[in-house]
Amino acid sequence: MKPVGKPGRTGELMPVEVALARLLALAEAAPIRDTETLPLAACEGRVLAQDLVSTLDLPPWPNSAMDGYALHLADWTGEPLPVSQRIFAGQAPEALARGTCARIFTGAPVPAGADCVEMQENAQVQADGRVVFTQSLRVQQNIRPQGQETTVGEVVLAAGTRLGPIEQGLAASLGCATLEVIRRVHVAVLSTGDELIEPGQPLGPGQIYNSNRVLLCSWLTRLGCEVLDAGILPDDLPATRQRLVELGDVDLILSSGGVSVGEADFLGIALREDGELALWKLAIKPGKPLTCGHYRGVPVIGLPGNPASTLVTFALLARPYLLRRQGVQAVEPLTFQVPAGFVWAKPGNRREYLRGRLEQGRAVIYKNQSSGVLRSAAWAEGLVEVREGSTLAQGDEVGFIPLSEVLG
Ligand code: AMP
Ligand code: MG
Repeated sequence: MKPVGKPGRTGELMPVEVALARLLALAEAAPIRDTETLPLAACEGRVLAQDLVSTLDLPPWPNSAMDGYALHLADWTGEPLPVSQRIFAGQAPEALARGTCARIFTGAPVPAGADCVEMQENAQVQADGRVVFTQSLRVQQNIRPQGQETTVGEVVLAAGTRLGPIEQGLAASLGCATLEVIRRVHVAVLSTGDELIEPGQPLGPGQIYNSNRVLLCSWLTRLGCEVLDAGILPDDLPATRQRLVELGDVDLILSSGGVSVGEADFLGIALREDGELALWKLAIKPGKPLTCGHYRGVPVIGLPGNPASTLVTFALLARPYLLRRQGVQAVEPLTFQVPAGFVWAKPGNRREYLRGRLEQGRAVIYKNQSSGVLRSAAWAEGLVEVREGSTLAQGDEVGFIPLSEVLG
């Protein structure tokens, strides 16, 4: 692993895009290349390891886009045409006899010799069974040509594409029963702090329930990672070291809490002694302190402990890092510009990611934006991005990142 950069000088905050660029560079320096072949249905959320090249033309033959009649346009002179065959989807038709038309249904192959399909609504069947067309006709109308979607040899999905229902459907349409994907990223999740206890236990004095553990574990699972829940690290140096040593096989140790420069920052001390530590002070709110380093060669990302800070830094920094380790190029979430439905009077020196919603097309924000308040995010539909140094009046444009963009 390459050096992770020097900590900023006191008071100097690292812009979010700089932190992201550094993390992505680290991810690219430690790519996960092992692959596995999975049944198509098991590929959801995984990353394609090799270009998917079409071995077919799609559609493989011209087919009808309508229920109607196939004909050779030059045969239509205004004189009724007899119906020479009926072609359903799944059948292989005979060539169209000249001077006739064929009854045809959506998805059925257009017979050789036909160059036009007219929909049944514009056709009249006479008492003798012959057909008259009531509208003017065009060559190739209502015919989906062979290879309209893809042709043999085309790259349909590039290596590094994240697979979801649409990509799975597309691969199926090309006849793929399996796909080669990057193996799961193995992530150990560590919670830190003597104050934490697990839900289900009675709450003692000074204790709080560990919410980041389940938040991160479920999120990572959604991202297709193999999650090792490494429990709670007590605020104690030997125990911290011991636990880190046990995690020597994972691709990433992801911790939350204990990354401020407080005396109880044992994770930081352990990294400094047995690995490498960079403590970044980010121009991000909620958030700010972020640890990036390694312990005996295993990459470590330490997110801030307040739940809303954990969420925002995971969404904007750790998630892109994990995707890039698997070769995904498009790692940044879509941001939409929407009018603000609130006023922001005081410019900050950090970029704010307010938990907000869209109401009548405007971004509104949760009443309490404290970094400890996870309820703000449960209420929210997205992160409202207010750039450092900016103020907002009602109706000014702000960035809006739907949570749905980052949660999967
Ligand atoms: P720290 O960075 O360890 O000082 O933590 C910052 C704040 O986040 C403190 O109020 C911690 O109690 C809280 N915190 C840290 N880890 C967790 C966790 N896993 N679940 C809930 N809150 C946490
Ligand atoms: Mg702590």
